[in-house]
Amino acid sequence: MGLVVQKYGGSSVADAEGIKRVAKRIVDAKKNGHQVVVVVSAMGDTTDELTDLAEQVSPIPAGRELDMLLTSGERISMALLAMAIKSLGHEAQSFTGSQAGVITDSVHNKARIIDVTPGRIRTALDEGNIAIVAGFQGVSQDKKDITTLGRGGSDTTAVALAAALDAEVCEIYTDVDGVFTADPRVVPKARKIDWISIEDMLELAASGSKVLLHRCVEYARRYNIPIHVRSSFSGLRGTWVSNEPLGDQQVEHAIISGVAHDVSEAKITVVGVPDKPGEAAAIFRTIANAEINIDMVVQNVSAASTGLTDISFTLPKTEGRKAIDALERAKGTIGFDSLRYDDQIGKISLVGAGMKTNPGVTAGFFEALSEANVNIELISTSEIRISVVTRADDVNEAVRAVHTAFGLDTESDEAVVYGGTGR
Ligand code: ADP
Ligand code: ASP
Ligand code: MG
Repeated sequence: MGLVVQKYGGSSVADAEGIKRVAKRIVDAKKNGHQVVVVVSAMGDTTDELTDLAEQVSPIPAGRELDMLLTSGERISMALLAMAIKSLGHEAQSFTGSQAGVITDSVHNKARIIDVTPGRIRTALDEGNIAIVAGFQGVSQDKKDITTLGRGGSDTTAVALAAALDAEVCEIYTDVDGVFTADPRVVPKARKIDWISIEDMLELAASGSKVLLHRCVEYARRYNIPIHVRSSFSGLRGTWVSNEPLGDQQVEHAIISGVAHDVSEAKITVVGVPDKPGEAAAIFRTIANAEINIDMVVQNVSAASTGLTDISFTLPKTEGRKAIDALERAKGTIGFDSLRYDDQIGKISLVGAGMKTNPGVTAGFFEALSEANVNIELISTSEIRISVVTRADDVNEAVRAVHTAFGLDTESDEAVVYGGTGR
């Protein structure tokens, strides 16, 4: 029996009962002969509540201090979980990200892991302990400051530890039974996927399926770590995510893997940009220098009479203020008329490797949106994904329409949501 890394999300440890339930499951894995490393998230919506609190004392909280604050959420759950395991008669020790050897760069609030040195975890395991690690946090290599990996980052901690410890599997325990063809909170007829390729999972995660974080899937691909996404509430087998199907995993060669949606982005339009070389470069260099990642970009055809064009792009809402401030400061050098900010947008994406070889997928997608009376504002595609931006209010209806149109609906009632507030 090898080493397993199990990650429990906030909804799985939302209260004392949840912590005790999870402790039993962990002890069962240990009793089955595994060495067990557990990565745990903050209880319930603690991270959101701490973020709200920070914003009440400062509209744009200092990054270093915000990380200090947010990491306290995971410290609470890791200590309680270790206590619960001990009271079941098994040895457990909890570790912060820093103690577990999660070394990051120094970009606060969205640090990247650059190394994992889990010496203390190894020692704890060798001494017969279950090791509990606080998710979503690390320590910066240069300044030795506490950092966080960005929202949902415990998934990344889990896979990074699984890679560093050469685990046989990384189990992600959450409040649904696996990865579904759409978010079960939006599509009650969504179907559970037994096995999904890393490629399709990467696109779903990048498109907003928050059941797995994009960076965690990238990590799993790089280090070839199989992920098993499953519920901590039911004993059911979940979804395997891996490069190739393993053992008896059922493989369906579906054209479409799923429909993802995302309402966490905003759109900025830079109005009246001179249509000459170097303008887009200046705009996006300004955004990059502010450490902001962008998603879609669209440039309008310029009006011949004015020689001016508009450039729109999408970015996380949480970065909206920073981006507007940076562009305003650079307005004189870039030379544009004005900025428009819109945070009432949503994105819907259809994902599946089969779309490369099956004509008509794009047409079918647009037809489904049109029948649902949903207006499209931006479009972007990759080889295995097509995404559109619409009004945020239209997103749920659009996801359901596309899900039905591509024959993904099931009547089996398997899209159970066991916990969580969906926040
Ligand atoms: P955790 O607290 O366990 O990290 P998250 O809220 O981050 O849980 O992720 C689980 C949630 O992801 C589910 O409750 C579900 O609403 C959402 N979700 C979005 N897309 C999907 C999908 N395709 N399959 C399953 N869940 C999805
Ligand atoms: N607690 C953090 C969050 O809510 C990290 C995580 O749960 O993965 O984003
Ligand atoms: Mg999550």
